[in-house]
Amino acid sequence: MISVAIDGPGGAGKSSLSRRAAKYFGFIYVDTGAMYRTIGLAACRRGLDTKDKSLILPMLSGLVIELKYNDAGEQRMFLNGEDVSADIRLPEISMCASNVSAMPEVRSFLIDMQRDMAKKYNVIMDGRDIGTVILPDADVKIFLTASLEARALRRYKELCEKGFKGSLQEVTEDMKNRDFQDSNRAAAPLTVAEDAVLLDTSEYDFEESLSMLCGIISEKTGAKAVEP
Ligand code: C5P
Repeated sequence: MISVAIDGPGGAGKSSLSRRAAKYFGFIYVDTGAMYRTIGLAACRRGLDTKDKSLILPMLSGLVIELKYNDAGEQRMFLNGEDVSADIRLPEISMCASNVSAMPEVRSFLIDMQRDMAKKYNVIMDGRDIGTVILPDADVKIFLTASLEARALRRYKELCEKGFKGSLQEVTEDMKNRDFQDSNRAAAPLTVAEDAVLLDTSEYDFEESLSMLCGIISEKTGAKAVEP
């Protein structure tokens, strides 16, 4: 099986680029952030303080988290049988996900689900610790990044399309805080794997970034396009 690990901060375009690249090569795309978001959502719905381990950890045993793919090949997240794929994208869930993801027990709770996908399928998996912790032997590791300004603007536009009424400044602040928290936590912090290729997309548009990403994957794995 071929595995491609894509890590990087929020808003770097990991999900949209990984999804398209996976389609291009006929691989499965695995969005691990969605799994942490599902746990964040579960905690939020229960009104729990997502920084409080003593409240979050007992909740885990009552959660059934499933990853499924619909007919269009899109990843859907299920929480105790309910499709929560839309709800986990609410802006307030981002920080909840970041809070719960700092707990090693929450990370262990999801690790098998993530590794199992890479055992069964050719995958492009994105997250924060895929190349460093989850798939240290991945065939290709890419650290995808962009300046804070570029990332915040992209995320802001994305949210506005979904009806977001907040400001760019709010999105920028949230992203900055999340970057700091994700990079400075003790458990699996966001870092560049030693053998990762660094791809900074600040100056490139989506199609240019996609073409660079696919170029790296195909050069390192020999994978060929299944779609033009
Ligand atoms: O990628 P996304 O922004 O959806 O991830 C939400 C949060 O989940 C991140 O801010 C990060 O704290 C956490 N995460 C993680 N490890 C991963 C993927 C996401 O800690 N592999």
